[in-house]
Amino acid sequence: MKPPPFLENETGGDLVRAIRRAAGEGRTTLMEVCGTHTMAIARFGIRELLPDSVRLVSGPGCPVCVTSNAFVDRVVSLARVPGVVIATFGDLMRVPGSSSSLERERASGRDVRVVFSTLDALKLAGENPDRKIVFPGVGFETTAPTVAVSVLEARGRGLKNYFVLSGHKVMPPAMEALSRGDVRVDGYLCPGHVSAVTGTRFYEKLVKEFGIGCVVSGFEPLDILQSIFMLVRQAERKLPKVEVQYSRVVKPEGNTRAQATLGEVFEPSDAEWRGLGMIPGSGLDIRPAFAQWDAGKRLPVEVEPLREPDECRCGDVLQGKIGPAECPLFAKACTPEEPVGACMVSSEGACAAHFRFGR
Ligand code: SF4
Repeated sequence: MKPPPFLENETGGDLVRAIRRAAGEGRTTLMEVCGTHTMAIARFGIRELLPDSVRLVSGPGCPVCVTSNAFVDRVVSLARVPGVVIATFGDLMRVPGSSSSLERERASGRDVRVVFSTLDALKLAGENPDRKIVFPGVGFETTAPTVAVSVLEARGRGLKNYFVLSGHKVMPPAMEALSRGDVRVDGYLCPGHVSAVTGTRFYEKLVKEFGIGCVVSGFEPLDILQSIFMLVRQAERKLPKVEVQYSRVVKPEGNTRAQATLGEVFEPSDAEWRGLGMIPGSGLDIRPAFAQWDAGKRLPVEVEPLREPDECRCGDVLQGKIGPAECPLFAKACTPEEPVGACMVSSEGACAAHFRFGR
């Protein structure tokens, strides 16, 4: 795929001026649906560089943020089972569930360990044959293939004490649900990493059914500015289409090998998204052939009744209905040190990004 045939040697200033020239009088609303974009946009002050007529809102692109309290509660319950070790990525540690978090469970003596890869979790399983190692799988199409590989590896090594609790989600059904929602979006800044796996064909549907432009963007500030320019130009010309700014990485067909691995271990399921509710076909369950490694099937636990934090507006933030600062708790009762909701915990959360860089 060829790179976009324009603005190849421009500076950030040139791109900002191009956006200002392209933007019309009417309001253009763009949404990013990737936590890495959320953080880069806040860190580099990109929102502040845009003309008033271009509004850039955050969507459900942070995997930890969209993970429901019910999933966190299940992991907490598993942590309380004697003989279970929770091996998790660090970003899940502080995410509050209904009444606890993995960090609190560890402080009260449960065996919760931070790992940096699924290989670390497999290593733990190999070294502790008398313990049950549970890896909570949270993430989109970018993370899920590595978790699928870990299940295949556990099968290959004959590890019977390694389990995955799948909370994985896939982006296309969520973007479709979002497009049917209350917030009118003119263009999506589409996730570069997810698209590298899924390819770009799905976005055609968003263009055809909803008239929403889609540009798959890279992560450098110039990538993002260029993608915003492409979306604003589409909106002004009223010609929504799929364009790939991140063509140095993303191919229309995606990564077919990763897709095959994903499909071997996981099957589509309905999944609960914070803010968006239950979305059919937006989750990934472990296939029955791999039930041996499925914590959901092999390690049933009682889970406490669901409780959401009062006044937390994470759900609205994740749909682009409000910005973080419009939440009454922002930077008061809710800070990165004392987070109330998941959007303030995750390093990719919109509230955390706005707290660190946007105030
Ligand atoms: Fe929830 Fe805190 Fe964000 Fe408010 S500032 S929406 S309480 S995470």
